[in-house]
Formats: sequence, structure tokens, C-alpha cells
Amino acid sequence: MREAGRIAAGARTAARLALRPGITTGEIDQAVHAYILSQNAVPTFLGYSGFPASSCISVNDEVIHGIPGKRVIHEGDIVSIDVGATYKGYVGDCAGTYPVGQVSKEALELIDITRTSFFEGIKLARAGNRLSDVSHAIQQYVESHGCSVVRDYVGHGIGAEMHEDPQVPNYGRPGHGPLLASGMTIAVEPMVNAGVYGVRTLSNEWTVVTLDGKLSAHYENTILITNDEAEILTMADDI
Ligand code: MG
Repeated sequence: MREAGRIAAGARTAARLALRPGITTGEIDQAVHAYILSQNAVPTFLGYSGFPASSCISVNDEVIHGIPGKRVIHEGDIVSIDVGATYKGYVGDCAGTYPVGQVSKEALELIDITRTSFFEGIKLARAGNRLSDVSHAIQQYVESHGCSVVRDYVGHGIGAEMHEDPQVPNYGRPGHGPLLASGMTIAVEPMVNAGVYGVRTLSNEWTVVTLDGKLSAHYENTILITNDEAEILTMADDI
């Protein structure tokens, strides 16, 4: 899991480094694909439920599951990049949202709130706590900063499969759900909207966008539950 996580984190970094005005989302995906293959790993997303690429690239009001292709990235966009790598039978999954050139103050704040909500959540991700303690902390942080957490999509257990039990919501009352135990690996991934939490899926049956057309950001790492602080398995210098 550590090795898979390291490779997934490297793929996310490769995508971030490729990001610039004028590049297409398809070209960013090529960078992700090439990096994962260079590490002798398999792009987990490619072919997953028929998904046609090695990364999900979601721009501005797109929340998740954007399909890489001909779309050109422009100065002022915010771009969410989600990647997964399978190595020796185990999966690492991580995501981040990045600004392209000069973006609005609101966009930068949304990115920061989303990222910080992950770290607020995982403060509670330790053996002996309940899963929804993490969920609640994320929701509290996000809503106290005037944004909303997506309800229709959640984080997940992860191991030999990308999506395993339990579901890891980014909302809910504390003190519920499974008891966290040392050795569990989960993907915690707040999806945060600047406006309403509602989302809809485009006619391509993949891309999820905000209902109100306002911006959305995503931040995800695969973590290991321990008796102390959670270990982030998809750690990288730029997370
Ligand atoms: Mg995930």
C-alpha cells in the first residue's frame, strides 16, 4: 500500500507539473499514464467501469470524473486531478485541485478550505474513534468557512480494490459508523462546492458538475489508520 501510494502521489505531481495554460486535459492524462507505467504500476482508473483514461480531470464547476480529452486549460481555471495506481495488487488513490496562473481570490480560498478540511478530518482518523468523527470534522470545517460538502459522492475503503467498504462520507453526526482500527486503509476525499452542495451528471454519464455552476474543489489521500496520527500513504512534497 505504501508503494502504491507513493506511485499515485508521483502521478498526481506529474499532472500538476504538466498543468499550464494551453495544455489539453488529454495531454495531462498522458503525463499521468506515462508516469504510472514508468513505475511498473497499472493505471487503476483506465477501464474502471469503462472509464476511458488514467486520470479524472475536472475543471472549474466540474466536481469529479471529468474525462480527459481535447479541452484546453486556460489561465484562471482551477483543475482537479484524481489518479489511481495499482502496484503488486494494491491500490493508491489521491487527488488535488490546482490553480492555473492567476485565479480569483474565491477560487484560491475554496482550494485552501478543501485541502485544510482533509487535514482537520484526519486529526480524528485514529484507532478507537468512529469513522463519522472524521466525516463530521470535515463538514464542520467546510461549512464554517461558507462552503458546502458534496453528499452524493464519498470516500472509501481501499486495498486490493480501489473502492472497498466502508464508505467515508464528508458529512454526518460524530460517533457513528465503524470503529477505526490500526491497519485500516481508507481514502478520505472532501469534494467541496463554493455554492450549493447539489450536483448533477452530464450526458457523457461521467462528469459530475455543480448544480449552480459555481466552482468545486477536491482533495484526497489514501491514509493508514494507526494508534497515533494517520499515516498519509500518498504523501508528496507538494501535497
Ligand atoms: Mg477515491
